[in-house]
Amino acid sequence: MENIVVLGSTGSIGQNTLDIISRTDKFKLTAISFNTNIKVAKKQIEAFKPQYVCCGTKQIADQIKETFKDLTVVYGKDGIMQISSLGDSDIYVNALVGTSGLIPTYNILKSKKKIALANKESLVIAGNIFTKMAKEAGIEITPIDSEHSAIYQCIEGRNKEDIENIILTASGGPFLNRQDLNNITVEDALKHPTWSMGNKITIDSATMMNKGFETIEAKWLFDIDYRKIKILIHKESIMHSAVEFKDGSIIAQLSAHDMRIPIAYALTKPKRMELECKISLADIGSLNFQKPDFDKFPTLSLAYYALEKEDNNIGLILNAADEVLIETFLKRKIQFIHIFDILKKAVDLFEDSLPKDIFAIEKETIYIKAEIKKMIEKEFTGG
Ligand code: NDP
Ligand code: MG
Repeated sequence: MENIVVLGSTGSIGQNTLDIISRTDKFKLTAISFNTNIKVAKKQIEAFKPQYVCCGTKQIADQIKETFKDLTVVYGKDGIMQISSLGDSDIYVNALVGTSGLIPTYNILKSKKKIALANKESLVIAGNIFTKMAKEAGIEITPIDSEHSAIYQCIEGRNKEDIENIILTASGGPFLNRQDLNNITVEDALKHPTWSMGNKITIDSATMMNKGFETIEAKWLFDIDYRKIKILIHKESIMHSAVEFKDGSIIAQLSAHDMRIPIAYALTKPKRMELECKISLADIGSLNFQKPDFDKFPTLSLAYYALEKEDNNIGLILNAADEVLIETFLKRKIQFIHIFDILKKAVDLFEDSLPKDIFAIEKETIYIKAEIKKMIEKEFTGG
């Protein structure tokens, strides 16, 4: 039995991960972390009886301690530092969202623990640092993201030199067939056609920034020339990605759009779990593919621009600006269409080389987020 820690246990990936853990006797859940969702966290503590819990604030920690007297409860930045470097853990799932996952990824890799990574932002911001750390420690960063799990499964045991292209599929999001991106409401943007996910990634899917981030994620996970990563729109989200080899063969992974499949694979590979997620291709009937529209979604070009330049901070900027923009859009203070302009502006303003140290990277992220907030206030709220 392995001791497993799930960071971000109350989120969409976190809850699916706990569902998978509950179906096997391979893991003992020793620690969880969450921010504020005490209701779900309490249910998880009752069901899994972890030894450690980390939450967002002291006030929430006190509430948890009142109910669960024997539990070690930590909170805030220090808490996440402790919980992401527990001595007796064997494997970590990083299902935190956005920049909150950065330092935990660093700690996990530093303590040379196995890591199943959902937090793609870690690789978008500092992919070169993390992949180098993993290589030096002799550990693998196992992807949870469905596309990257698919690619992983397609290239597993094969010769990397034979890869011609990685075909990264995208549903296209809710605005695939909408030409005019003006006057999009929060409700429109949160209506993902195929996947049910947390708010940030759902908006990222609507702007296609998610696919941009995934292109960067793929580059680092598979150590591949970025020019070989090709985005393909596939609206049914059944083919989760594919790999084209030099003889023209294309190998793909197909399944239902249910995150429990890639999560389970990340935790049990090369074995597979029995899951009730089967699909009938005969019932689906047909699968469609089309080219992405780089003009309509400038987020894609921005991601390729980040990949074009070595050791730059463009991933950091895109992630930082994107976090602020999504928060502001969800509060209905900016239009959906503004997200594209401000992302571009942020890259123009802050492009530089990437700091070498992860704590300096975090500091730069905080600085850029504050600057973007000021810029938005000035431009859109007359502040
Ligand atoms: P959610 O928003 O659903 O969950 C995020 C988790 O992180 C929650 O447990 C949340 O706690 C916690 N959290 C949020 N902010 C903070 C913070 N500042 N400090 C500490 N903890 C925090 O996100 P998802 O599960 O959708 O996504 C998680 C990651 O997985 C993202 O990087 C996403 O891109 C990636 N991913 C998600 C997929 C999906 O299907 N959802 C698919 C592929 C990748 P609380 O609940 O208390 O707020
Ligand atoms: Mg994905």
